[in-house]
Amino acid sequence: MSSDGFSGLFRGRRRGILLALSSPSGAGKTTLSKRLLSQNPDVVLSISTTTRPPRPGEVDGTDYYFVSEDEFRAKIDTDEFFEWAEVFGHFYGTPKTPVLDAIERGRDVIFDIDWQGAQKIAEQADADTVRVFILPPSLDLLEDRLNKRGQDEADVIRDRMRRAKGEISHWDEYDYVIVNDDFARALEKLTLILHAERWKRDRHPWLSDFVDALVEQ
Ligand code: 5GP
Repeated sequence: MSSDGFSGLFRGRRRGILLALSSPSGAGKTTLSKRLLSQNPDVVLSISTTTRPPRPGEVDGTDYYFVSEDEFRAKIDTDEFFEWAEVFGHFYGTPKTPVLDAIERGRDVIFDIDWQGAQKIAEQADADTVRVFILPPSLDLLEDRLNKRGQDEADVIRDRMRRAKGEISHWDEYDYVIVNDDFARALEKLTLILHAERWKRDRHPWLSDFVDALVEQ
């Protein structure tokens, strides 16, 4: 088969990956996911729906889809969520259609999500899900980053530090763990994980037809 024929056969036939990225806040997950998105046109970000009111600077449709509780419940009733959960008194859910479309079209979806969300995504689509946990090199450094970010008051930072330990305790439920001691290296590792995972046999359903045709030649 010509190289054109091969790429024609291949094009669009890969299943997309659901890349669930978790970390305690301040470990660099959001910056890493933004950079991964900007460097990989085949990757899209999953935007969740929430009943939490927007924080200053948050944009509807970019950070979250902000809806009322009634609207959220209606979406549960019409089965519009891939997964949903109640977190700290507010509802959060992953819209189903963009995720299923992306998998079928060979686009990877990145989820900036906590351990519970990552677990739920894996429950829905275990074979399509890759879970990556980002660890800070030390808790002192994490606290330092949260202080420097200047977004939160001291008591909020104390609370985030307490929650960080809870989040970290789930590290061993993940497929990959990256210690973010150097941003460029952490990004490189994340990119390598994505690229290697794209070549897993199960993500290429076209292969069995290709091999059948190959051996019949
Ligand atoms: P925040 O209100 O700080 O943006 O998010 C609060 C928590 O909700 C975070 O731990 C975040 O990971 C989680 N969360 C955000 N979106 C979703 C979602 O679509 N599904 C689930 N299960 N959790 C989410």
